[in-house]
Amino acid sequence: MAKTLAPYLDLHTHHVRSLPETIQLRSCRLSEVSALPTHPSLYYSIGLHPWFAEELHEDSLPRLREALGVSHVLALGEAGLDKATQRTAFSDQIRLLRAQIQLSEELGLPLILHLVRAQDELLRLRKELHPDQPWLIHGFRGGIDQARQLLRAGLYLSFGRHFHPESLAAAHAEGRAFLETDDDATLSIQSVYQAASEVLHIAEGELRYQLYARACSLFASLPLYEQ
Ligand SMILES: [Zn+2]
Repeated sequence: MAKTLAPYLDLHTHHVRSLPETIQLRSCRLSEVSALPTHPSLYYSIGLHPWFAEELHEDSLPRLREALGVSHVLALGEAGLDKATQRTAFSDQIRLLRAQIQLSEELGLPLILHLVRAQDELLRLRKELHPDQPWLIHGFRGGIDQARQLLRAGLYLSFGRHFHPESLAAAHAEGRAFLETDDDATLSIQSVYQAASEVLHIAEGELRYQLYARACSLFASLPLYEQ
């Protein structure tokens, strides 16, 4: 009998596609949560993103807390820090990230992070707050030095279309890499797995198994895959 393969896991996407053998973690804003489709292979993360001033304020926190209580929500995010955006003040980003870190700890949900040019500030917050929940940087494009610094601090890194091979290899060796399509509607998660399996010299089926097992250890409500 042929062995069934573990599903592909798209750790962070903004597009829902109907794909066989794929589990998707769709990243949502608060304004999107009223109409979330449900499907057995579709999960959500919800957070206050540093790009959206209309949501990035204290008044959103009670609604966020409520939205995170729904089943099929696996993580808080994306939240984060972005020094390249003009849309919100950096001081507001820091304040609302702090609040979301507290919420992720309180609700026992991993935190998915958007991080642009603010690695030192993020690591400072981590040192100060000592979170128990895992932190995952999505769309990581940084080089090996940046990757090593984040890995040393215990973070997970998720990679999409553009990545530095050494950073992916370092994160995978630590058991802390994931793959994603983010907001790229033309990118398939299969092609990201293919690129990663070439870089890592691991057969794609084995990579599917490893990343899915890794995800199950972080997200308790994912269905277990039985080989
Ligand atoms: Zn995103």
